Amino acid sequence: MKKDDCIFCKIANGEIPSTTIYEDDDFRVFFDIAPASKGHCLIVPKEHFDNVFEMNEETAGKLFVLATKVARSLKKELNLEGLNIVQNNGTIAGQTVFHFHMHMIPRYTGDTVNVGWKPGEADMEELSKLAKKVGDNIL
Ligand code: 5GP
Ligand code: ZN
Repeated sequence: MKKDDCIFCKIANGEIPSTTIYEDDDFRVFFDIAPASKGHCLIVPKEHFDNVFEMNEETAGKLFVLATKVARSLKKELNLEGLNIVQNNGTIAGQTVFHFHMHMIPRYTGDTVNVGWKPGEADMEELSKLAKKVGDNIL
């Protein structure tokens, strides 16, 4: 299912050009137009999902299989030393394009990529209660 006025629906389905690395029936992988580092690319499903909360299981399963293959190919071709896989959901989490996409960001010594957070302190009692509640919602 495509969504009108969604740029990644148009790119994924070939209506708008992109520097495509790989394409199959379900996904297009293309280079990010404003790369964080050399080789920064996006894995985008052809079907429209706003974010991870909406994605179906079949697509989700295929997605990570493809991600491992893209990661290995980037590693083989580029002299990368590491790779961040980043996937933003919601404005507060940094999402700017509201069609699910997974960032593959190669890492090199001295690069300017910034993916991080300040480690907090765990309240073990609260965490065990939360673990039960969240766990119970996972079917
Ligand atoms: P987000 O912030 O939603 O996680 O990531 C959106 C990404 O899409 C950004 O890294 C941005 O550079 C990239 N992007 C936005 N528009 C286009 C486009 O038209 N073509 C390509 N190749 N990348 C885009
Ligand atoms: Zn879309």
